[in-house]
Amino acid sequence: MHKKIRKIVIVGGGTAGWMTAAAFAHHGAGAGLSFELVESDDIGIVGVGEATIPPITDFNRQLQIDENEFIRATQASFKLGIEFADWYRLGHSYIHPFGHYGVQMHGIYFHHFWLRYRAQGGKLPEYAFNMHVNACRENRYGRPASNDRLPLPPMAYAYHFDAGLYAAFLRRMSERLGVVRTEGRIVDVQQRGTDGFVESVRLEDGRVVAGDFFIDCSGFRGLLIEQTLQAGYEDWSEWLPCDRAMAVPCERVPVTTPYTRSTAREAGWQWRIPLQHRIGNGYVYCSQYLGEDEAATRLLARLDGAALAAPRPLRFVAGRRKEAWKKNVVAIGLASGFLEPLESTSIHLIQSAVAKLLFMLPRDTVEQSTIDKYNSLARAELEEIRDLLVLHYTATERDDTPFWRHCRAIRKPDSLRQRWEMYERNGDIIIAVADLFKEASWFAICNGQGLRPRSWHPFADIPSREELERRFVLMSGDVRKRVDTFPTHDDYIRANCAAAPVAMKEKMA
Ligand SMILES: Cc1cc2nc3c(=O)[nH]c(=O)nc-3n(C[C@H](O)[C@H](O)[C@H](O)COP(=O)(O)OP(=O)(O)OC[C@H]3O[C@@H](n4cnc5c(N)ncnc54)[C@H](O)[C@@H]3O)c2cc1C
Repeated sequence: MHKKIRKIVIVGGGTAGWMTAAAFAHHGAGAGLSFELVESDDIGIVGVGEATIPPITDFNRQLQIDENEFIRATQASFKLGIEFADWYRLGHSYIHPFGHYGVQMHGIYFHHFWLRYRAQGGKLPEYAFNMHVNACRENRYGRPASNDRLPLPPMAYAYHFDAGLYAAFLRRMSERLGVVRTEGRIVDVQQRGTDGFVESVRLEDGRVVAGDFFIDCSGFRGLLIEQTLQAGYEDWSEWLPCDRAMAVPCERVPVTTPYTRSTAREAGWQWRIPLQHRIGNGYVYCSQYLGEDEAATRLLARLDGAALAAPRPLRFVAGRRKEAWKKNVVAIGLASGFLEPLESTSIHLIQSAVAKLLFMLPRDTVEQSTIDKYNSLARAELEEIRDLLVLHYTATERDDTPFWRHCRAIRKPDSLRQRWEMYERNGDIIIAVADLFKEASWFAICNGQGLRPRSWHPFADIPSREELERRFVLMSGDVRKRVDTFPTHDDYIRANCAAAPVAMKEKMA
């Protein structure tokens, strides 16, 4: 490709398409680029994907989105972590929080000191040192007051939002920024004879949309990246056997919890995502162990309120597109691969792909070295998330159903096996610079899933017992003091960003 890139075509208008469009139109304003997004109302969007992780707040901030306006427009609530119920064993639950435990001392992570403290009979649980877990348990959310001098950072947080409203919000924003939206079903793709680069797409009514560079946000079908360029798919179901989901919204309940709940079930797990106007629910399961009708029945029987629509089935295969970038096409969103939403990472992966592409956007020639770099970064990112998900399934005492016995027998990826062994040996958690999940996340999950290190870092033995006790009392006291200043999550929303009530028309008879 030797023509200056002037026109970028985005195929698909789900969360991936509109996040991409909004980011490129905002950051690239004035660069002489034009953007056209093609989507089909007939095909629609996947319509799930409502729980996020903290980097989404950076995405919004960079796009100068007013937070309260965004929350009202998407019926959003705040999210401080994920509760995992029944994962380690039935009746057990823990929270994977978005913030740290305690503070580092002697240059090493806090959890080493806590491992020593517990081994020596200390009574305080690990969550006594974590603001997020305490706020979750008490359904509180807030920001530090201006006179708060506690040696604690502000709370990292994310959102739960309505996926359809989010896409609509970003669409309005993108169109204001000059993105052209074209409605229609793509039925054909034209490639350049010489090298197979995509030149244009043809719609059902004969219109042709041409461009210099294409971003494939067409969802699971991968219209350009797979159906046209055959980039290939790496199937990860040997590690992540769930391949179906059943999704259904239900009526809200009086308390809006500031966390997502994931409850392990007989053949997978159930999500619960509280929004202002409803609760999003779904059962992610393995079709080898549960049928579709049974999944729907079980999901409907375990809702907090009346179902507001008929359960909707979805199919997927865990894995990644072998080349998320091929020729002049980059796949973003479901077109680039899929990992089940256990750690709410897909929307983050869209954001991360957009950020990478912003840095690497070609000027005229598409260089293979750029493509290779992009694809290797995307691969590493996905592999880390995969390992964290596999940890949930394999570090468990559950063996009460054929599905859980299957999970316990999964042969872990080498990268996970290495992390696991290091943690069990002496609590070591080694984080690479590019890792999405930092030590607090790996600790929360390793600990919550029942892994018990045999020892700890030698520096954790430096403070005397009395000194360690003194520091622990101070640290947990600071956490308590900060959390005590927070209002309830519902009070915070009411005071700052309450959305207009909506009539939930879809409600089932
Ligand atoms: C069960 C489930 C639960 C999930 N939960 C979460 C979660 O909690 N958190 C999270 O971060 N992520 C979650 N995800 C992932 C999240 O839903 C997606 O990452 C996100 O919605 C992006 O989807 P998308 O835009 O890539 O695809 P889609 O929403 O499917 O959009 C595809 C677009 O392409 C268009 N299109 C397709 N074919 C054509 C054609 N021929 N012509 C014209 N247009 C076409 C469609 O009209 C549509 O606009 C979940 C996914 C699933 C399956």
